[in-house]
Amino acid sequence: MKPIIIIGAGLAGYTVAREFRKLDKTTPLIMITADSGGFYSKPMLSNAFAHGKQAEQMITHSATQMAEQLNATIQTNTHVNGIDAAAKTVTTDNGVFEYEKLVLAVGAQPIHLGLKGEAADQVLSVNHVDDYAKFRAHISSPKNANPVRVTILGAGLIGCEFADDLAGAGHSVTLVDPSSRPLAALAAPTLSANLQTALSARGVTFHLNTVAETVTHGANELRVTLADGNTVEADVVLSAVGLRPDLRLAHVAQLKTGRGIVIDTSGLTSAADIYALGDCAEYTSLADGSTHTLPYIAPIMTAGRAIARVLTGENTVIDLKPSPVLIKTPSYPLALIPPAPHIVATGKWLDETTATGRNICRFYDADGLLAGFGVSPHDNAIRQELLAGLGQAVSTKADTATS
Ligand SMILES: Cc1cc2nc3c(=O)[nH]c(=O)nc-3n(C[C@H](O)[C@H](O)[C@H](O)COP(=O)(O)OP(=O)(O)OC[C@H]3O[C@@H](n4cnc5c(N)ncnc54)[C@H](O)[C@@H]3O)c2cc1C
Repeated sequence: MKPIIIIGAGLAGYTVAREFRKLDKTTPLIMITADSGGFYSKPMLSNAFAHGKQAEQMITHSATQMAEQLNATIQTNTHVNGIDAAAKTVTTDNGVFEYEKLVLAVGAQPIHLGLKGEAADQVLSVNHVDDYAKFRAHISSPKNANPVRVTILGAGLIGCEFADDLAGAGHSVTLVDPSSRPLAALAAPTLSANLQTALSARGVTFHLNTVAETVTHGANELRVTLADGNTVEADVVLSAVGLRPDLRLAHVAQLKTGRGIVIDTSGLTSAADIYALGDCAEYTSLADGSTHTLPYIAPIMTAGRAIARVLTGENTVIDLKPSPVLIKTPSYPLALIPPAPHIVATGKWLDETTATGRNICRFYDADGLLAGFGVSPHDNAIRQELLAGLGQAVSTKADTATS
């Protein structure tokens, strides 16, 4: 019997493997991964200081333990270089493997900014526990005085979470972003302003409406020159400007791609017996057939369960439900359902502050229907209440219209 092969051992690869094994205990399962295959929760990387964790402490199970748990063979430190969809083989550093069905869970790659300056190659990014280990080694380098000066490029989800975590640990953080506010792509203006106030109170310095252009060596530090003429001195520079789905294998296999690897509602790519999920995938909506990359955990869980069933021969669809993005900024914790970018210009945000001081921002589309929200602080009850109102003309105690 030819095996099921999963490429990638991040949360997407391991979720589909685990779900598959709940349904089928015996079909041969091979996982192939370029990394060492240790299981860890990637969202923990941006609040590791708050949890008092070093990089190595975040790996809860080694590849050997995972292989045993999943009754699988895990080829670690093995790079897949090619896929032959017609012959149903994958080519790796360690030889060629035949598959019955193949799952791509190859994740995304950090976007590189093309910065100028002789120290541009010193800029770090964190999208893996190994990257985090390198980042922490720079933070704790004996050549740095304490507090360590960290400049973060990008005030989106990951940049803001790292800023709060590092500032909470006593480091001196500067956030740089081309937008006029943090979390501009995700949050209502009022919530961005409140987050900025909370992070500033933690000691974070903001340089907004500008970008980094050049990184050079100073006497004992890095010097980041901004487009607005300012210069920031830093011991460590972290780029958090976003990720791009990894399409390299999809291109080799000539799969249909958009921003990500396009999959239908059952997780199937444009090639027979090849599936995809996670940060590399572009999901198709059951509701209207539109496609979206969704680089979050909740879609991985839903897609992992569905694809596992499809791998056993069951006819199943990936039924993605709206799930709030939780921003792990303890200074101002947020739960967000951002409105779709194409409706932002035609709808409006309405803000409410409850008697208990909770900020709720609701986004109404041009038809007056609830199409997004943000709330801080939040708990399960308020998240469920707001979710239940999506698509409805909910009456609110809104007191301010912000856009
Ligand atoms: C700092 C941080 C904080 C986050 N916080 C949250 C959060 O709070 N909530 C949330 O919902 N989401 C969060 N996310 C996003 C979430 O963690 C990701 O969506 C998810 O972990 C992606 O998993 P993945 O398995 O698709 O990709 P990855 O974890 O990137 O795994 C890809 C795997 O593919 C392997 N691979 C790639 N190419 C090859 C190849 N050619 N050959 C062999 N192996 C290959 C890699 O080695 C790796 O094992 C966060 C992300 C980051 C970076």
